[in-house]
Amino acid sequence: MFADVIIDISAEALDRTFQYRIPEILREQVKLGTPVSVPFGRNKKLRQGYVVNISAEPSFDPSKIKEIVKVEKNLVSIKSQSIQLAGFIRDRYGTTMNEALKTVIPVKKKIKNLEEVFLTLRVDEEEARARLSEYRRKNHKAKERLLEAICDNEVVTSRDAKHELNISKSTIDALVKDGVINVDRERKYRNVVSDNVDNSAGEKVLNTEQQFIVDDFKKEYMSGVRRPYYIYGITGSGKTEVYINIIKDVVAQGKQVIVLIPEISLTFQTVARFKNVFGDRVSVLHSKLSEGERYDQYDRAQRGELDIMIGPRSALFTPFSDLGLIVMDEEHDGGYISDRSPKYHSDEVALFRAEMTGASVVFGSATPSVKAYLKMQKGIYKTYRLDKRAGNAKLPSVSVVDLREEFRSGNRSILSELLQEKICDRLNKGEQTILFLNRRGYASFVSCRNCGNVIQCSHCDISLKAHKDYSGRIRKLMCHYCGDTVPMPEKCPKCGKPYIGTFGMGTQKVEEMLQKRLPNARIMRMDADTTAGKRGHERIIEEFRAGRADILIGTQMIVKGHDFPGVTLVAALAADMSMFDNDYQSMERTFQLLHQASGRAGRGDKEGEVIIQTYSPDNYVIKSVKAQDPSIFYENELAYRNLMSYPPYQYLLMINISGNSKSYVEKLCSKLAGWINKNYEGIKLIGPNLDLITKRNDKYVMDMYLKSEEQERLIGLKEDIQKEVEGSRLPVRIQFEIK
Ligand code: ADP
Ligand code: ZN
Repeated sequence: MFADVIIDISAEALDRTFQYRIPEILREQVKLGTPVSVPFGRNKKLRQGYVVNISAEPSFDPSKIKEIVKVEKNLVSIKSQSIQLAGFIRDRYGTTMNEALKTVIPVKKKIKNLEEVFLTLRVDEEEARARLSEYRRKNHKAKERLLEAICDNEVVTSRDAKHELNISKSTIDALVKDGVINVDRERKYRNVVSDNVDNSAGEKVLNTEQQFIVDDFKKEYMSGVRRPYYIYGITGSGKTEVYINIIKDVVAQGKQVIVLIPEISLTFQTVARFKNVFGDRVSVLHSKLSEGERYDQYDRAQRGELDIMIGPRSALFTPFSDLGLIVMDEEHDGGYISDRSPKYHSDEVALFRAEMTGASVVFGSATPSVKAYLKMQKGIYKTYRLDKRAGNAKLPSVSVVDLREEFRSGNRSILSELLQEKICDRLNKGEQTILFLNRRGYASFVSCRNCGNVIQCSHCDISLKAHKDYSGRIRKLMCHYCGDTVPMPEKCPKCGKPYIGTFGMGTQKVEEMLQKRLPNARIMRMDADTTAGKRGHERIIEEFRAGRADILIGTQMIVKGHDFPGVTLVAALAADMSMFDNDYQSMERTFQLLHQASGRAGRGDKEGEVIIQTYSPDNYVIKSVKAQDPSIFYENELAYRNLMSYPPYQYLLMINISGNSKSYVEKLCSKLAGWINKNYEGIKLIGPNLDLITKRNDKYVMDMYLKSEEQERLIGLKEDIQKEVEGSRLPVRIQFEIK
């Protein structure tokens, strides 16, 4: 028998398998996904790798095929399903099989099992008591202490013996040797789910709309239908309650469920609610767990000791053997797209895994991605709507403040008159306020504080990005799509006033300013600086929820999915900050953020209020949020995307080329551009603009974009490009992303 092995070395060029003979003695152990050691290269050094294929026939001269040396017992084996998933990721996102395999095994190394050691009597109690007197007589204090405790309690753990009775291991050994006690070991899992379940949650009686979804899903599921669904329900409409009830039905079929949430900071709340219902059959998997904790959860899933795994995108790769459902909450969230290579999109991987294993997928959000919205319109996703808030909570009222007018009337601070008034009102009433700044695109686009005009590319309908010189002054504005460059204007081209500049202010500054103005307010700040550590997010969120501050200031992370019953005022300090990023999704992100934020106000019994400060009150995003009518946004946005040939109407393949040498990067870019233009009719190439090579982490980086109506064509092209780049033998790295 022969095995194709992926060698575990990071050299990207080696994206292929090597064949080895499976020796007789290993035949039982070597299976698909088994980690092995094999001799590799000229010096036959031992390397680790994974078996990805097994065949009876050799694919070349058998006399030249080396043998697998051993099975790597300390590495986790890969399920054959995961190998298929890795194959999908490699083909779809342009990465090596090795890297794709690393992605699908969230846990690689086996970590030593934890044990609980139980000490019990080996003899009957009478005899034990006799021994006890003997130890007492002989003044064997430690033995006496331990035996007495075991006599009194029947069982004592070695941990208690050590910490509470101050007993050393040698004392335990001595009692074993005396034949008085037994030592039993039991595997113990590292506990990753906090024990304080959310008791206030309790089980809810579903309302009619919720019950309809649960019944309809169940009916289809029981009759064998597997497909993607979308629960499009406003914030607070009770989507999580629906997931829980759907999951109950799937779990009752003996199947397992993966529940994806966009980021770690949301796990805590979600897990507490699930634990209420499903108890110990729920666990979590995320990057802030220790290696041992992660390994244990992975292993429990593999052993069938769990029904539900909750976590951010990597939980998608939980090794369940009979997966029945994947739930993806807050589908629109950017956290679902991997930020490192391979840059996989969780929705696509979820759909692939579900199809492969015969599972359904349930997406949910109050603000679906534009991509998902179109799929709902086309009926690819079966859509359920939830248009009312569950329980009695009412929708908040939304007001928009025109910052241009504030500026003209002499208010130069970031807090409008209206907002200041409302904050003071909340302080007086003892209610809470959330203020947030969206720092994406921070200080990157240039606008006029007087009229709100944002300087845009005359060719692309996308904002120009400021480029600072070495002294920090902005001299040039550039379009990152077509590369057009204009000098930084002195005056606003629209209103002629000189109040033009980049836009922005950090959360820390807002905090300082607010504290000065409201010395008695208790203010908390949550951003990347204040949330370091394993439970940084949780701590701040829990403290704020518990009412230990009046005002929470933060970046977009505070408005994502959290449930704060005491908050009655939410304000976006500068809604525009993310509207003019330089890609086609900036309006979508802004809409989602503002809409989600408004959902944070008034989740308790009190009515909530939302204030949106903006320089562009007439923008359709702002109008849609103000009217609390998402269809205004989706209709405008779909029309715009269609007009501009952006996804989801056309697809973009982003090619990212990087290397240590600027000239090699340039050379490859030009070469590829020529090659694509010559060979691929109907595929539009944007870039490269060689003036825009930037330096990131000491590497020269350049992006190129290809556009096509057919996603499949771009995937095929990606492979051709990869071959072309390998053929060129230039020392550059190439990465792809399909949008
Ligand atoms: P979503 O996930 O749609 O934002 P949640 O599931 O978090 O909504 O529900 C919002 C709030 O409403 C929660 O506090 C939840 O406990 C409560 N809730 C949900 N369904 C019901 C129901 N049927 N009856 C009463 N309260 C409910
Ligand atoms: Zn342009």
